[in-house]
Amino acid sequence: MPSVGTRVKVPFARATTVGICVSDVVENPHKTLKDVESVLDTSAIVPAELMALAHWMSNYYHYPLGEILATVLPAAARRGATCSINPPDYWRVCTDTFDNTRARAQAALFNDLQKQGPTATADLLAAGHSRTTLNNLSKGNYIERCEPVDTPAGETPPTPTEAQDTAIRAISAALQSFAPFLLEGVTGSGKTEVYLRSIAPVVAQGRQVLVLVPEIALTPQTLSRFQRRFANVGMLHSNLGDSARLQTWLKCARGDISVLIGTRSAVFTPFKALGLVIVDEEHDSSYKQGEGLRYSARDLAIKRAQSHQVPVVLGSATPSLESLYNANLGRYQKLDLPYRAGNAQMPSYRIIDMRGLAHTDGISVPLERVIRDHLRAKGQVLVFLNRRGFAPTLLCAACGWQAHCSDCDARLTLHKNPSHLVCHHCSLKFQVPKTCEGCGSTGLMAVGLGTQRTETGLQNLFSDVPVYRIDRDTTRTNAKLEAQFAKVNQGDPCIMVGTQMLAKGHHFPNVTLVAVLNADAGFASADFRAPERTAQLIVQVAGRAGREQRPGQVWIQSYQPENILLQRLINEGYPGFAAAELAERAKNGFPPMHSMALLRAESAQGQEAMELLNQLKAQLSGVEIMGPVPAPLARIANRNRFQLMLLAPKRTQLHAALRRLK
Ligand code: ADP
Ligand code: ZN
Ligand code: ZN
Repeated sequence: MPSVGTRVKVPFARATTVGICVSDVVENPHKTLKDVESVLDTSAIVPAELMALAHWMSNYYHYPLGEILATVLPAAARRGATCSINPPDYWRVCTDTFDNTRARAQAALFNDLQKQGPTATADLLAAGHSRTTLNNLSKGNYIERCEPVDTPAGETPPTPTEAQDTAIRAISAALQSFAPFLLEGVTGSGKTEVYLRSIAPVVAQGRQVLVLVPEIALTPQTLSRFQRRFANVGMLHSNLGDSARLQTWLKCARGDISVLIGTRSAVFTPFKALGLVIVDEEHDSSYKQGEGLRYSARDLAIKRAQSHQVPVVLGSATPSLESLYNANLGRYQKLDLPYRAGNAQMPSYRIIDMRGLAHTDGISVPLERVIRDHLRAKGQVLVFLNRRGFAPTLLCAACGWQAHCSDCDARLTLHKNPSHLVCHHCSLKFQVPKTCEGCGSTGLMAVGLGTQRTETGLQNLFSDVPVYRIDRDTTRTNAKLEAQFAKVNQGDPCIMVGTQMLAKGHHFPNVTLVAVLNADAGFASADFRAPERTAQLIVQVAGRAGREQRPGQVWIQSYQPENILLQRLINEGYPGFAAAELAERAKNGFPPMHSMALLRAESAQGQEAMELLNQLKAQLSGVEIMGPVPAPLARIANRNRFQLMLLAPKRTQLHAALRRLK
């Protein structure tokens, strides 16, 4: 009988597949269940705590347990790969001398190893030694495999500020039980330093720490900041190969890794002795999985801390309204870092009223002047525009026709070098038409702004400084992103133009000016979460300015400068903005005060999805129902999308209604 949490091979339809044992009580009254073919693991690879989490998720997210376990398990384990830790790929000598002087190659390798200590196979091969030599020495018991030496380089950490010290003490005093903290620290206030200092005593006790970071923030800089302080730092992110991912997973389970830094799905890693959980930039949208099993890694991180009875620290300069609400209710202990660390000051804000102003590819005359001033003073400039490509619309000047995607309800974005049209929703590419498809006119115009266009404009206006564009098109890999940042961090005057990739976590010591080209779109969206997200983005991108000695400025271009949301954000800061948003949500009966669920259905055929939602609606009771209505983008990739929104004052009411639907 396999035990719960072990993998089994089972017959399924006409083939065999890998399953996971979820119960050791088998009810088989009709004798229809088939036998397990073989058991793949000698002990549970999904420990009881993770199994309990999977059951909880199945209930909470109303999703099949099997699909949840498929998400929890690393892909390689799901396919049936052997779950054992590879022997370390490092070598050391295991005798004092090598006396067979005639075996010159072996003697040379032995001497090298003796001199330099544990060395990776790859490095030995690169130094000209052969695999045969390695094998021979190993067979003769002159050398053996070993773990790499991992001694942190060490550094003198800065003396904590008073606010940092208070936060570190509060966290360290709570290490023996579940305790959620919300660490609200302005950009550059030294939140990472608080994490590092809170981790130290946990690691010293031989316990482990899980650090979740947003998708974009897991850079070599982040990693090395942790590696300088701690040994056995592991990393999990989406670009990791399947087998490396499984190895890290297993090492965490065995307790070999002390600090695991990972993105969203790292929240499913098993730990031998978890001592602390940290969620950096807890408001970040990359913690929410938006497809298939929709889950929030932040919420699951809290669940895990709870089941391990350890503290969890949610950190952000712009906390989510959910977390602020929980802190207001006293469910989370609030820790504040209201000032920047070191000598840095918070940046100041200005608004440029764009009404009636001319601009060059998005840069108004006043903005051009400010950029020039900052460059002349040897500062660096960051220009933020949340849209890739050259222009979001290709328009016919004669008849008003616009280039649309064939498969989506969406306009195509014009990209240049080489010229083509791209749908940003389904990724289809099209040739740029020479003439209008409506009237045949040749007067097609690129309308609106994308980063590529602004890059060109900036290059024309400021031909004597480098302009770096940073968006998904220019930095497909982390390595490219790093290369761009390395150039910026040489410190010479330059201009960066880019999307939200620029907003997160980066530390550019010489940026003194941040320009937000168009703040209006985000505040105008119909999505009730849009103002929150827009404010977070503006504050985060603004937070790149003036992070060291020189004070920073933030200039915002707007066609609606009197917009109350924008005004509130600038005059009252994020805390004031968030408080007003929370009041607005409470008034409208929206989350986080009330609970909400969104049912979305899509179909290739006309109204099928709509009809399904109407049928579901007829079965629902005890909750407020809105819809069904077409989804904000009603057709993507040739599928018609509709949605039904459910609201209830209490989460239990919502769950009860959803359970009936299942
Ligand atoms: P955050 O994560 O809040 O944006 P960081 O942890 O990146 O801030 O810190 C911003 C900068 O301030 C970093 O260069 C960091 O080394 C420095 N710093 C942090 N704490 C202190 C301190 N107590 N004294 C001086 N400098 C500090
Ligand atoms: Zn036309
Ligand atoms: Zn499309």
